[in-house]
Amino acid sequence: MQKIYKFAVLVLFLIGGTLFLFNNFVANYNQEIQKIEDKLDGVEFAQKIQKFILKLQKLRGYSQFDEISSTDLNWNIIQNNVQLIKADVDKDIFLFKKFDKTYPELYDSDYDHIIKEIESLLQSSQDDKNLLYQRYTYIIEQLKDKMYYIGFKSKLLLESDSDKYFLIETMLKHIPNYIETVGKIRAKTTKAILDKYTDDELKYSLQNNCMVCDENAKLIYKTISEIEEDDKKTRLLSLLENVNSETKKVREYVKKTFISDHTDVDALDFFSVATSVIDKSFELYSANSEYLSQKLNEKLKVLEKTKLYGTIIGAVVVLFIIVTIISMIRGYMLYTRSENKIKNNLTSIIELKNDLEKCKTIAEISSSSLYFFATKLNIVQGVIYIFNEENNKLYLASSYATNEMKPIVELGEGLIGEVAAQMRHIQTYLGDDKKRYFGIESIVIEPTSICTIPLISYDKIFGVLQLGFIKENKVVHNDDFAYFIDMITSFLRDAKYSEVNKKYIELIDKHVITSKTNIKGVITDVSDAFTKISGYSKKEIIGKSHSIIAHPDTPKEVYKNLWNTILSGKIYRGEIKNLNKNGKDYWIETTITPQMDKYDNILGFSAIIRDITDKKRIEEYSITDALTGLHNRRFYDSNFIKEYKISKREDKNLILLIIDIDFFKQYNDMYGHQRGDEVLKTVSSSMKSFFKRANDYVYRLGGEEFAITFYTNNPKNAFERAENLRKNIEDLKIEHNASSVSKYVSISIGLTFIAKECIMEPDEIYKITDETLYRAKKEGRNRVEVTSF
Ligand code: GH3
Ligand code: MG
Ligand code: MG
Repeated sequence: MQKIYKFAVLVLFLIGGTLFLFNNFVANYNQEIQKIEDKLDGVEFAQKIQKFILKLQKLRGYSQFDEISSTDLNWNIIQNNVQLIKADVDKDIFLFKKFDKTYPELYDSDYDHIIKEIESLLQSSQDDKNLLYQRYTYIIEQLKDKMYYIGFKSKLLLESDSDKYFLIETMLKHIPNYIETVGKIRAKTTKAILDKYTDDELKYSLQNNCMVCDENAKLIYKTISEIEEDDKKTRLLSLLENVNSETKKVREYVKKTFISDHTDVDALDFFSVATSVIDKSFELYSANSEYLSQKLNEKLKVLEKTKLYGTIIGAVVVLFIIVTIISMIRGYMLYTRSENKIKNNLTSIIELKNDLEKCKTIAEISSSSLYFFATKLNIVQGVIYIFNEENNKLYLASSYATNEMKPIVELGEGLIGEVAAQMRHIQTYLGDDKKRYFGIESIVIEPTSICTIPLISYDKIFGVLQLGFIKENKVVHNDDFAYFIDMITSFLRDAKYSEVNKKYIELIDKHVITSKTNIKGVITDVSDAFTKISGYSKKEIIGKSHSIIAHPDTPKEVYKNLWNTILSGKIYRGEIKNLNKNGKDYWIETTITPQMDKYDNILGFSAIIRDITDKKRIEEYSITDALTGLHNRRFYDSNFIKEYKISKREDKNLILLIIDIDFFKQYNDMYGHQRGDEVLKTVSSSMKSFFKRANDYVYRLGGEEFAITFYTNNPKNAFERAENLRKNIEDLKIEHNASSVSKYVSISIGLTFIAKECIMEPDEIYKITDETLYRAKKEGRNRVEVTSF
């Protein structure tokens, strides 16, 4: 609080001071500009008055003429001129009355009085020349005084610049005085010429006027000579020279007037010569005041420019101060907020949780967490690394406001690796080595303190969080901060394991053949590997009955057994031959597990399947007879023993048939070996289609000798099956003209009924059956002989 107070005072002081200085600067310049503008007004107003005086002086001159002493021509000219000037003066008076608004600072009520005087003078029909002279002179004196007074009021006379001061002096005093003196001489001499009379008083008066004239001319010369600017000085002096040379002519006239009886002098001629002096003087006056205005305007421009630059500089300074203050405030807030913000922990925790719940991947959770720290704790930089326990490396998951971080860090490498290895946080102070920048666009702040915090899950390193602060930060010691870390870690952990699981599931899906069915055997899901082996796409097979892939060769008993097993809630394991979409068979080893709910109701089944086609093919190859496709002798040797054992175990009677084709040697001899082979094939497939129950086996023992085993509980039924087979073969009606027992190919069968109780060795059984066959041969062939044990 104390800090904020001091800061506010400093800020107010800075702003106040700047505004005060700036205000003073502007006010000062405004005042200076106003002064110059006043002076320019003064020059303008004085010029107007001087012009007005010139007209009054002329009227005064003309008032000395009279009709009697003038020639008619002169009188007419004079009358005309007077009328013109009076009209002009009337116009001036009309304008004069508005000057109170044009020059409010310079105008005063005295002018109303002067104007009244002029109006009454112009309207009076007085013809006393002396009186008229005096009345005009009185008004002119008053106006001249006013003109000088304007010099004071507009502060022209307080001008400190010497050149300007000289110009002002000549404009307000010396030239007007000169003109007035010449004007007086003009009026007095005119009267003297017309009256043809010169008394001493007039003589002295004129002499005096001439002296004053000289004095004034000298003063003008002296003043102008002081001007430093050469071109102006030269021009003004040359104008003064013109005045002086004209003035000489006037003097001639005056001299003549005194010496002679002035019969040869024309009053109007003299009048125009004197007027010419006044005109020349006014030229000097005009040039003089023009220079003055010019100089004042120059100064005005300089002042205005300076004011403009000053204002711009002032505005920039103010802007700079404002920006600096804003930057300082932001910086200060960043300093303080990190500690204050954590106090709003409850809402923050909920916010963080909500944010993280929206994230799915480690990268999303990491960047959301860093963003959270950025807004809540005002970190200026942050990174999150995730530890991979398989190779002991840390992988960059996300970074905030820095892109200089290594993507992979070894355990123990640098700050990150060290924190991961030691599983304790490290606080690092960078001090002021790294500077903070306050700019207009953005504030780039390098951290001055770095907290590197281990993310720990189940006492093992899970990752590392590193945060950069702009001041020494104590938040790591805060309980709430620990809570944030725990929450982030748990979200990251969940994401990591769900990512791992996802990969694992993908792997299983790709490589393990699995299927799921409902309780009715309708497929509800299959793995990618399943679609590969079955040839059906997921779309094609899901929703279909599992029987779609059953092979027609597979005995019904196999499925019966399978369903009985799984419907009773047991796991079924077995090798099954299936048919794929293209009609090709394949072998699987399947483990079908019933899926139960918690009340042991079966919901469906899931099968994990192994492709054993190759194994089966090799197996089949080694036990199959190449010519007929029947089981071979080798398989008979092993399988008979197995079947025999099963019959004992399951308390069944086993039947063994040994079959031999009759007179086959002769058949070969008559029809050729190749047709003999054809017969072997035909007889084989006939036998196979005849004995196709689940536990029926048909073997080719060698040459044209076969064996068949099957279970039965009825000896009569066994004999019938053998007898039917014999008939069946003969009914194939394969021509055999070399046979003496039949027109067709026939077989002889030796049948042994191996009762459940029989304890003979398999070899012995074989031998006896073979003898039984021999008996059948001996008894005439194409018949079945039986032996029972
Ligand atoms: P019997 O009625 O006494 O059995 O007379 P048989 O001629 O059939 O006599 P035996 O069984 O001793 O002779 C077997 C004959 O079968 C010998 C051979 O010519 C013929 N044979 C054996 N194996 C093959 C075979 O793979 N293909 C063909 N075409 N003939 C075979
Ligand atoms: Mg034989
Ligand atoms: Mg034979």
